[in-house]
Amino acid sequence: MSYVVTIDGPAGAGKSSVAKRAAKELKIKYLDTGAIYRAIALILAKSEITPEKKEFLNEALKEIKIELRDNSVLVNSFDVSGEIRTPEVDSLASIYSALPEVRAALLTLQKEQKNYGSIIAEGRDEGSVVFPDAVAKFFLTATPEARAKRRYLERISKGQEANYDEILNAIKQRDLNDSTREAAPLSVPDGAIFLDTSEMTEDEVVNFIVQHVKEAVKE
Ligand code: C5P
Repeated sequence: MSYVVTIDGPAGAGKSSVAKRAAKELKIKYLDTGAIYRAIALILAKSEITPEKKEFLNEALKEIKIELRDNSVLVNSFDVSGEIRTPEVDSLASIYSALPEVRAALLTLQKEQKNYGSIIAEGRDEGSVVFPDAVAKFFLTATPEARAKRRYLERISKGQEANYDEILNAIKQRDLNDSTREAAPLSVPDGAIFLDTSEMTEDEVVNFIVQHVKEAVKE
């Protein structure tokens, strides 16, 4: 029988790497919901539909078709997987995802994913709003400094430019946007296991999650 696991938490808590690895070990699919929010924010910004233009927003949302493939995300058949991973889209996603219209438009797409087999859904409101009945829920966090350091090292290792202070400020700004918005603010879902990963290795977090899911699925 198929099941859903959710991993929520703030930016840079290591959710993506952990969710990908846990999905692989559990032989289930990884659902990167941030990629969906990034894709929609990118296309709305490119179309110059600012959050204030409510009348255009609703029309545009009806026209935008988002598709998820294993390692890519398509908007109206265009692959935007590379374009959505920039600091600019980091903040655009955070701004557009605060709009109730955007969240409502993406809810069905996310819920449907469980029809294609077991998944680990990673995001901000997966355990609270999208999949409240998930078999196991986790909330991963770490201090803003630990998260900024990880992002900094990740960018450096990819040969990208990085400035620790700028990254830290951007993380704090995103935390503030994501946790103070009215529509589905970032919060620890009911029944979620809270993990502060500041002092944990990635292996430790993955093992913890995999073991816990295996137990939960057995019950
Ligand atoms: O996880 P990622 O950094 O890719 O997410 C980008 C942005 O999308 C987040 O800062 C957040 O504002 C938004 N998001 C959301 N709900 C989700 C996933 C992402 O609001 N389930």
